[in-house]
Amino acid sequence: MTAAIIDGNALSAEIRAKLAERAATLNANGVSPCLAVILVGEDPASAVYVRNKVAACEKAGVRSLRDVYAADVDPAVVFARIAALNADPTVHGILVQLPLPKNFDSNAVLEAIAPAKDVDGFHAENVGALMQGNPRFIPCTPYGVMEMLKSRNVNLKGAEVVIVGRSNIVGKPMAMLLLAQSATVTICHSQSRDLAFHTRRADVLVAAVGRAKMITGDMIKPGATVIDVGINRLPAEQGGKLCGDVDFESAKEVAGLITPVPGGVGPMTITMLLANTIESAERVAGEKA
Ligand code: NDP
Repeated sequence: MTAAIIDGNALSAEIRAKLAERAATLNANGVSPCLAVILVGEDPASAVYVRNKVAACEKAGVRSLRDVYAADVDPAVVFARIAALNADPTVHGILVQLPLPKNFDSNAVLEAIAPAKDVDGFHAENVGALMQGNPRFIPCTPYGVMEMLKSRNVNLKGAEVVIVGRSNIVGKPMAMLLLAQSATVTICHSQSRDLAFHTRRADVLVAAVGRAKMITGDMIKPGATVIDVGINRLPAEQGGKLCGDVDFESAKEVAGLITPVPGGVGPMTITMLLANTIESAERVAGEKA
């Protein structure tokens, strides 16, 4: 069996075209959707992510502001900037690119963002709303995964779903969203015993670990849907390319549906960031109307 591919680039293009129409309507009504992105430090991967987010905004008709600070900036400067953006009615979304340098209290930074502008959905108030089944902003990566599953009508009701990884930005919110769709959800992590026992039971398997090719074909149930969130760079001696947490070559022979890396979940994450920003602007426009 060779799995069908869920193409994140193609699905993103479809969704972004609809988002661009919504942004155009907002602009025509005098509300220019705007995302503010803050980058601290020189992490090259973070710089690329920020560049891609800003470029995606421009293409979709979303205005963007970008503040870049040196790694040794006084955190008070960043907090002051967040406060100014919170108070600016022309800004609808604020995103602080993670990870932050070690002298920053990342939680305190995320909590400083006004919940109504927290388009990453990481503020405790928004995490709580998601837990209660009434999300204000759905974290972008799990949101993108849900859109991918929806696009292929993957049945989630009663399905065995296994998520590998329990981070606040992927694993945990992913579990909440799948639970809300009545899946039976198992979350695995670094202390889980016999990972393969769990993954082999999964009708839907989500890998969000950060370890290249750790999920191999023999760990997958025949016909399963496999979502690979991982983004890992192989060492130069292995070609230096990007790859996921799933060993694509062996997994595609067993799975029914699979997402590639690159071109899978990655572009969907940025697409859902645009969706959250536009939705935030629409809420403001609704209040104005
Ligand atoms: P974290 O490092 O925050 O979390 C990794 C999780 O994997 C942890 O829960 C950890 O367990 C678990 N883990 C580590 N080793 C094992 C193991 N051997 N077996 C089972 N579980 C293990 O990572 P993130 O959630 O932030 O990101 C995960 C991956 O997804 C990364 O590759 C990242 O680059 C990528 N990513 C991709 C995005 C996209 O847009 N496609 C967006 C965000 C992330 P424990 O909690 O016990 O330590």
